[in-house]
Amino acid sequence: MDRREAIGDDGIPGRLREVQARIRAAVERAQRPPDSVALLAVSKTHGAESVRAAYTAGQRAFGESYVQEAIEKIALLADLTDIQWHFIGRIQANKTRQIATHFDWVHGLSDPAHARRLSEQRPSGLPPIKVCIQVNVSGEASKGGVEPDAVAAMIAACEALPGLDVRGLMTLPAPAEDEESQRAPFRALRLLRDRLATPSRPLDCLSMGMSDDLEAAILEGATLVRVGTAVFGPRPYNAG
Ligand SMILES: *Cc1c(COP(=O)(O)O)cnc(C)c1O
Repeated sequence: MDRREAIGDDGIPGRLREVQARIRAAVERAQRPPDSVALLAVSKTHGAESVRAAYTAGQRAFGESYVQEAIEKIALLADLTDIQWHFIGRIQANKTRQIATHFDWVHGLSDPAHARRLSEQRPSGLPPIKVCIQVNVSGEASKGGVEPDAVAAMIAACEALPGLDVRGLMTLPAPAEDEESQRAPFRALRLLRDRLATPSRPLDCLSMGMSDDLEAAILEGATLVRVGTAVFGPRPYNAG
């Protein structure tokens, strides 16, 4: 038994370092400034003790997809005061209050009605919740997201809501094998962002790239990669 197993962290610190090294290498390849890409550690389906192991190794931002599971974890980790929680799952209208109450960020916002509910339900003592609009750049109906030509209107609708802080765009393309095909949807998201950004609304967050395609996303300008499996290992189950 090696030391990592002996202290029960499940190899997470080592995998976290490997992911950080992959990010650094891609940032260098892209000739982008160091620290221009943030890592969101996607902890869905993994227990609070795994999140704590990653936190102890220095990780602060965590992504969750299932509201009930996340809220239990957030309660168990309430002592970690500078931890950040990002909701990255499919939003259901009956869960918006819990999302607005317990999360710092929402990626994957694509419904104006959900946006209104999140804004109304954001507790007044908290800063506006940071949101990325999900865009369906690769044209797959099943993946959800706003069509590219409707993104400007969605941003305008969200900007009118005091409980929201529009920070950028997110996409979740279908898996692709080779780097060139992986890059195409990420490039499309960046170009859309470049068209819609203004000095007062920089849309500085480009949330794109996961365990299998984070290099392609970084080469196309990702500022936040959402990485689960490569940090925490295979998921024990797949709830949806
Ligand atoms: C699960 C999930 C991820 C992480 O996926 P991995 O392939 O495990 O890195 C990223 N983004 C979203 C929206 C997810 O649901």
